[in-house]
Amino acid sequence: DKINVAIDGPAGAGKSTVARMVAQKLSYIYVDTGAMYRAVTWYMIHKDIMPEDHDNVLQTVRNMVIELVPGEEVQKVIINGEDATPYIRSLQVSGMVSQYAKIESIRTRLSQLQREMALGKGVVMDGRDIGTTVLPDAEVKIFMTASVEERALRRYKELKDAEQVTLEQLENDIAQRDLLDQSREISPLRRADDSILLDTTSMDIVQVVETIVSHCRS
Ligand code: C5P
Repeated sequence: DKINVAIDGPAGAGKSTVARMVAQKLSYIYVDTGAMYRAVTWYMIHKDIMPEDHDNVLQTVRNMVIELVPGEEVQKVIINGEDATPYIRSLQVSGMVSQYAKIESIRTRLSQLQREMALGKGVVMDGRDIGTTVLPDAEVKIFMTASVEERALRRYKELKDAEQVTLEQLENDIAQRDLLDQSREISPLRRADDSILLDTTSMDIVQVVETIVSHCRS
C-alpha cells in the first residue's frame, strides 16, 4: 500500500534532489513545497505587495491558484496562470521568501493545498513543516541536515552557472534563512519527534536516496 513521505530540513540540504529521486524510485508524486513558497514570494514581489501589507496579502492569497506541473528537470510552478518557474531560484526571491513564509494566511493556504495533494497517498513532500504540521500522520518522516558549509557548497554548484554569486554570499544567505525559518512563530522549522535524523554531510546523493527508500519499504 502507498504511504506518504515527509522530508524536512534546513535550506540547501539537498532535500528537493533527494525527494525527487525517492519519488521516482517508488513511482510516487513529488511535491516541492519550497517551490510553492518561492512562487508566492515571486508573485507578491511582481505585484508590488509587501509582506507588511496584510490586507493585500490576505486578499491575494484567498484567490490564489497554484499548480505544480511535473517537468523533465524541475517541477514547474504556475501561479494564477503565470509560470513562476524561471524566477523562483533567484537571489531576490531567496532573500525575501522567509519574510512571506512567516505570514499566517500564506501558510494556512499553502498547507491546505499541500494536504489536498497528499490525500491519495503516494506522495513524497519536502519542506520545513511537513512532518510537524502539514502531514503529521506521514508514515515515514525524514529530517535531513548537513553542515552549513556543505549546504552552501551544494547550492553553489547548483547555481554558479546561472548567477554571479560567491560561496560566502550563499553561506550567509543559508544561515540567515535557517535563523528566520527556525524562529518564526507559525510552524517553525524543527525536527518532528518521530522523524529519522539523517545527517548527509559526508553522504552522497545515492546513499541518501537508498537510505530513505529502505525506510519506506520496511
Ligand atoms: O526548500 P526551499 O529552500 O526552496 O524553501 C524556500 C523557503 O520557503 C524556506 O527558506 C522557507 O522560508 C520557506 N518554506 C517554508 N515551509 C515549507 C517550505 C519552504 O516556510 N514547507
